[in-house]
Amino acid sequence: MSKLHNYFHEMNIDISWYDQHVSPSVNRIALSLEDLEKDVSSCTKCMLHETRHQTVFGEGPICSEIMIVGEAPGKEEDEQGIPFVGRAGKLLNLFLESIGVSRKSVFITNTVKCRPPDNRNPMIEEINACSNFLEKQIKIVNPKVLVLLGKVAANRLLGEDKVMSELRQKIFHIDKFAIPIIVFYHPAYILRSPLKKFDMWEDLKFLNTILKDNVS
Ligand code: URA
Ligand code: SF4
Repeated sequence: MSKLHNYFHEMNIDISWYDQHVSPSVNRIALSLEDLEKDVSSCTKCMLHETRHQTVFGEGPICSEIMIVGEAPGKEEDEQGIPFVGRAGKLLNLFLESIGVSRKSVFITNTVKCRPPDNRNPMIEEINACSNFLEKQIKIVNPKVLVLLGKVAANRLLGEDKVMSELRQKIFHIDKFAIPIIVFYHPAYILRSPLKKFDMWEDLKFLNTILKDNVS
């Protein structure tokens, strides 16, 4: 039973009308995302499970046009179980708003769902161990565009070894998904290098073009 069904069941409310009227396919998608979240929350596939407080699955509407993939949860994310709630997240929200995109309309997650100790970069083995979850999320949400934040997420997911100047402002495709993939500076990098804000603006404009032109 889904969280929603449990909730109404506990309140003794009949929701057969809901099951009949809400599109069955949307219901199915929501359920598969919930099942996946449950699998993630009990996952022990890599060492990161030993030090996490909780898993950070990701959040956003199931049919988001944009899906953003960061690197890994940090301290605040590990405490709250929500991605991008710290300073980098607040900056990301502002950047999205600047092109008229509400954070609430975007699905946001990370390459790994557990915080690496001391905020080190996730290791390739950890990203590989977690990649099945990310791939399932991408397939379920099926966004119009996938945005990878920063060099680590980009290179590891695209199977490249490139510097940011070779990754930004380009559309990548990988065999697994029929979705255009683009790379942004990580907002944590912009916090450390405020002069790069202009480049971030260029990245956002590039995203906007892709959404408007529906480039694929
Ligand atoms: N940085 C990330 O890459 N992901 C988060 O969730 C938070 C900060
Ligand atoms: Fe499992 Fe991913 Fe957490 Fe590793 S990072 S324990 S693979 S959920």
